[in-house]
Amino acid sequence: MAGNGIFAEILDGDVFKYYADGEWKKSNSGKSVPIVNPTTRRTHYKVQACSQEEVNKVMEAAKAAQKLWAKTPLWKRAELLHKAAAILKEHKAPIAECLVKEIAKPAKDAVTEVIRSGDLVSYCAEEGVRILGEGKFLVSDSFPGNERTKYCLTSKIPLGVVLAIPPFNYPVNLAVSKIAPALIAGNSLVLKPPTQGAVAALHMVHCFHLAGFPKGLISCVTGKGSEIGDFLTMHPAVNCISFTGGDTGISISKKAGMIPLQMELGGKDACIVLEDADLDLVAANIIKGGFSYSGQRCTAVKVVLVMESVADSLVEKVKAKVVKLTVGPPEESCDITPVVSESSANFIEGLVMDAKQKGATFCQEYRREGNLIWPLLLDNVRPDMRIAWEEPFGPVLPVIRIGSVEEGIHHCNASNFGLQGCVFTKDINKAMLISDAMETGTVQINSAPARGPDHFPFQGFKDSGIGSQGVTNSINMMTKVKSTVINLPSPSYTMG
Ligand code: NAP
Repeated sequence: MAGNGIFAEILDGDVFKYYADGEWKKSNSGKSVPIVNPTTRRTHYKVQACSQEEVNKVMEAAKAAQKLWAKTPLWKRAELLHKAAAILKEHKAPIAECLVKEIAKPAKDAVTEVIRSGDLVSYCAEEGVRILGEGKFLVSDSFPGNERTKYCLTSKIPLGVVLAIPPFNYPVNLAVSKIAPALIAGNSLVLKPPTQGAVAALHMVHCFHLAGFPKGLISCVTGKGSEIGDFLTMHPAVNCISFTGGDTGISISKKAGMIPLQMELGGKDACIVLEDADLDLVAANIIKGGFSYSGQRCTAVKVVLVMESVADSLVEKVKAKVVKLTVGPPEESCDITPVVSESSANFIEGLVMDAKQKGATFCQEYRREGNLIWPLLLDNVRPDMRIAWEEPFGPVLPVIRIGSVEEGIHHCNASNFGLQGCVFTKDINKAMLISDAMETGTVQINSAPARGPDHFPFQGFKDSGIGSQGVTNSINMMTKVKSTVINLPSPSYTMG
């Protein structure tokens, strides 16, 4: 149970504490932030509303702890991460329970998220030991005008304090995907979890606490992003921001100082379906890609662009599968569960009504109860409809019928987003040409877009992000290169 057993110390009355200086604390603000259960629409948990003064203290402690951590042997950093991963996996049940109650994640998927997170932490520890143990050795005579009088040794050193801000949809996995690379690379880490998902994140942080990381190295400050977000992201002690979320990331990028940024933002992942595609495979992937976790995934299929000649057949196959999706509470692991908030449900409804007004074909009747929206496939969507371009982050999927592949590529590239995309065809040559033409960070051939496996590079173009994630890229991103040059009194040639 959340806040029980080994997690008892993170709860004070009915408010979960924040984590600073190796301890669980109550905020001096005396204020708390309610977390509304998307299913019941009632307050389920409360977290501390941390003050600016508390953020300042966390930053001071993070700076001091980082100096010592950078001197901690790499193998020892890895050892602690492996320990945290094991504790996290052992306590997957209470953490998964929080995900069910805070973000209405289907129970089975909630457990998977925690296990996947433990695996990510372990993989990161192993990868860090390998890649951070290596540097480069260069000699000067490879550049014109130089003799062999200089040896350059380069290595990767930590950035300092990394600020991690994950979104609500994977509050554990997208937190550890920032925490683990930051720590293995010798940084300290300040986490600001999403409000919906904060309690799951606090439980996860307690697993790192139990693993025995030094005081102050990891902290977790809670509070509404709209209230403490700017203070955190513009804090002078922060040396790197790793953010995953929506357009908020664009405004953070404009306000942040001259520090490395890792931004993983929204997407409008297109699924281009050619005439020769295996339509059963496409339909199965549209269901998985478009409706898993009720469409609340950055890499969900968010628009289907299908060749007119096979569109009727594909739409029929998808419709047949939509009827079979179970709709209901996350506790029962239903396929479609309530979306995260009432405002999110209202936004989705706005997109649906706009499509209705402009003449889209409704393959199912539109149905909503509270935050629960039944899965909906919208056929004959046209570019003048909002749903053709905007990210619903809900179980609503538009189908646009195209007359040529070029039309599909054009629609994909006209989007502000460029996260992922996918193409279905049996012709690998065509698939490669289309993949090269699509302006997205990743293109999947014959499968729906996906972020995992977590060690694959993952990046968004345009408004979908800055930089690249994936274990190796995140570790590299959270380091800087340091060179030492040895100057010799005379040219030195080996064995010459
Ligand atoms: P969001 O509203 O942008 O929030 C993301 C995080 O930013 C939350 O922790 C939020 O805290 C915090 N925040 C809010 N205002 C802030 C501010 N002024 N300064 C600093 N932080 C602030 O996104 P979301 O609704 O949680 O997640 C959905 C979005 O994330 C979608 O657009 C989705 O595509 C995207 N996403 C992208 C990826 C990817 O890897 N590309 C993965 C998953 C999701 P509060 O909760 O307290 O407001």
